[in-house]
Amino acid sequence: MSTRTAAPPARLEARVDLDALRSNVRRLREIAGPAQVMAVVKADAYGHGMVPCARAAVQAGAAWLGTALPEEALALRAAGLEVPILTWLHAPGDDFAALVRAGVDVSISGQWSLDAVLAAVGGTRRPARIQLKADTGLGRNGIQPREWPAVVDEAVKAERAGLVEVTGLWSHFACADEPGHPSIRRQLTSFHEALEYAEAAGLRGRLRHMANSPATLTLPESHFDLVRPGVAVYGLSPAPELGVPADFGLRPVMTLRGRLALVKQVPEAHGVSYGHTYHTTGETRLGLVPAGYADGIPRAASDRGPVWIGGRRYVIAGRVAMDQFVVDLGPAGPGEQSPAAGDEVVLFGPGEDGGPTAQDWAQAIGTIGYEVVTRIGGRVPRVYVD
Ligand SMILES: *Cc1c(COP(=O)(O)O)cnc(C)c1O
Repeated sequence: MSTRTAAPPARLEARVDLDALRSNVRRLREIAGPAQVMAVVKADAYGHGMVPCARAAVQAGAAWLGTALPEEALALRAAGLEVPILTWLHAPGDDFAALVRAGVDVSISGQWSLDAVLAAVGGTRRPARIQLKADTGLGRNGIQPREWPAVVDEAVKAERAGLVEVTGLWSHFACADEPGHPSIRRQLTSFHEALEYAEAAGLRGRLRHMANSPATLTLPESHFDLVRPGVAVYGLSPAPELGVPADFGLRPVMTLRGRLALVKQVPEAHGVSYGHTYHTTGETRLGLVPAGYADGIPRAASDRGPVWIGGRRYVIAGRVAMDQFVVDLGPAGPGEQSPAAGDEVVLFGPGEDGGPTAQDWAQAIGTIGYEVVTRIGGRVPRVYVD
């Protein structure tokens, strides 16, 4: 998709290329096969818009959808998505009965959540679908190895009583984006031990899964029956050290673009934006971009973030404010076509034409591509290109 052929947006928009997303899911299926793909669509599909992205992922053959929060899973069901869904981040007081009624798979991270699900099953008259999550070393949620046998035994008992169906056994890596990190091997060993106990206890033939995007792309032995890529579905590389998206056959899905609201001439030594962290070094033209930290443009990108205007790269001049930032366009050269109000500004996109990518932004401000796309704010319209 060329962003140039589309008419510029009124202010700022996140164009979401669903073709690219489908192509990424197909590519991930190829890489993971015969393991199936669970497309992770938590956090509004990493800022891309959950329901349209989930639909596109399923069209491209994602067998499962994954969400962190229960309300995300319920929103997918409410939108008519019928594929299996796993949700894994729960707190006491969550509406487990609603999840059971909706046929959503609930991850069990400890005896408390198994108890909560069993309490909810009574009123639903259908067995709860649950997946037992082992903490193999991440130290976030999941069942610690010493509690694993007891929770597995309880789950087996509940399954025999017709209260639950244990559909999966799973875990999550801490450092899969650093191939060769010693924790990777330790976590795989710990997962195999957890599987061995569960299978001996009666949970044979359940879906086993562990791989996020980096493990899907770099560690075939972690694929088991199912992989759970998130960021790769949206066409970003999980870490620049692993390669750029094209190295894996992935295409960035989001293009964040707007238009210049204003271009004006200013004299030398003119301060720019709050705090005057930037001063012009000569007579120049300033371009105003109506995008700010309320839109998810990091304030940390002040004097750093790259933008693309008229086929050239510029860097943000001065502070990113709540609603706007400024670019120093330089003096108009003789006969040079200079950017004008209304011209398109690409903040990040596929980068094919030399324009900046989400990874470039991540690098400029010391974060990861995940955060750059996920934090794009609610007031930025998502425009779906299909
Ligand atoms: C977010 C998440 C994923 C996807 O991670 P990526 O690195 O984006 O592929 C997979 N599994 C769990 C449990 C997650 O929380």
